Amino acid sequence: MTDSTTALRSPGELTGLTAADLAAKIASREVSSEEVTRAHLDRIAEVDGDIAAYLHVSTDAALAAARAVDAGLAAGDQPASPLAGVPLALKDVFATVDAPTTCGSKILEGWTPPFDATVTARLRAAGIPILGKTNMDEFAMGSSTENSAYGPTRNPWDTARTPGGSGGGSAAALASFTAPLAIGTDTGGSIRQPASLTATVGVRPTYGAVSRYGLVACASSLDQCGPCARTVEDTALLHSVIAGHDPRDSTSLDAPGPDVVAAARAGAAGDLTGVRVGLVKEFVEGQGVASGVQASFEAAVAQLKELGAEVVEVSLPTISYSLAAYYLILPSEVSSNLARFDAMRYGLRVGDDGTHSAEEVMALTREAGFGAEVKRRIMIGTYALSSGYYDAYYGSAQKVRTLLARDFAAAYEKVDVIVSPTTPTTAFALGEKVDDPLAMYLFDLFTLPTNLAGHCGMSVPSGLSADDGLPVGLQILAPAQADDRLYRVGAAYEAARGPIA
Ligand code: GLN
Repeated sequence: MTDSTTALRSPGELTGLTAADLAAKIASREVSSEEVTRAHLDRIAEVDGDIAAYLHVSTDAALAAARAVDAGLAAGDQPASPLAGVPLALKDVFATVDAPTTCGSKILEGWTPPFDATVTARLRAAGIPILGKTNMDEFAMGSSTENSAYGPTRNPWDTARTPGGSGGGSAAALASFTAPLAIGTDTGGSIRQPASLTATVGVRPTYGAVSRYGLVACASSLDQCGPCARTVEDTALLHSVIAGHDPRDSTSLDAPGPDVVAAARAGAAGDLTGVRVGLVKEFVEGQGVASGVQASFEAAVAQLKELGAEVVEVSLPTISYSLAAYYLILPSEVSSNLARFDAMRYGLRVGDDGTHSAEEVMALTREAGFGAEVKRRIMIGTYALSSGYYDAYYGSAQKVRTLLARDFAAAYEKVDVIVSPTTPTTAFALGEKVDDPLAMYLFDLFTLPTNLAGHCGMSVPSGLSADDGLPVGLQILAPAQADDRLYRVGAAYEAARGPIA
């Protein structure tokens, strides 16, 4: 690490603590939420110029929320949640009444929503001060944050590299210790991939486990909100705060989710006897995984065996088609969802000078307001859904999705979880893949299949690559509504692995 990255990776007394420790200190009134929140705001002021994790910092609102928590505790109230008083960074794709919501796009520049997303409301009700809104690839399309209209976020491990995407801002905030908790969204890997590149923990919950109400839609059949933190236990605590049925999201699951906090705590005891861990044959045979990533993965698998897990090979024959299917289904849904940005209802309006028709204003606004990747996907999706091509493209992709779900179902008869590297390589350099969309898409190879199936997944740090000293992530996957397995295995592995340099 260079001197500047050493500083970025060296937290202060309060900013270096886990969320669980901070919550305990706040609840016992050893420190106030205001002090903790202020320490993080000060650190944002100190280091975020080098990282650009935040698009917007909500200083006054965060301090006011913290003071409200402190006042309640001083009056003898019970903490509102196990994370009461611990501040958080929110991906800029969730509606917030008191802060702009841009989705990393020019088309929403300066737009402040008239309502809070359910996730935002649940955070507030849990006494979690929101420090600010984090940077992301425009409308969550990308793997590096370079598609943000407001410039890229930098990786605290090496500021010449990407922290991943689309939720690179949330991951970089955790890795530079400007927030102990963050929220992301994972449509094809946007929580797990940045977690992997920054040595943080990120979970994509089961589809429908967390409300999407007030989450600006990317691809509605794939989108899922999830927790990000620096430890498995903190991630579980945040998961339990945001998950749960919401009548305002018609895809929200109506059954209670598993107890992920209990699973994380049980896992930390370090016994995985009886747990069957699957290795995907097609991944093992595949090429393109960097040697340092492969070595870290093999060491992690060996550690799982030592903890008592039984390692079994499984086959997902359809998996080689999943990337192609994803990059048809996602753009198709995007082309429909992003039609709402029509210059009439939200944000930017270009050409409204009396000389243009309403249609021209829409076209001029969309031309000026959307970036290149968003336009590319709207065009691909519009084409894939057009009459005459629908069956060949969108229809075929949906069939692949069904076959893949069947492959997973068969695999999960033999194993409890599936593991793989989260990403094929460590963090790549900013600029390296921006002109090569296919190379950028290929980076999602390991993360997106679970999204197509509606399942859950976690990335937990597995150390630093021997090739370049950069973070590597272990991906753990489980079927729908079995999120507790991720936490049990992730916590056991994390405890056995020990601290990362
Ligand atoms: N990188 C993927 C994409 O560009 C994933 C995006 C996401 O999960 N939001 O589509």
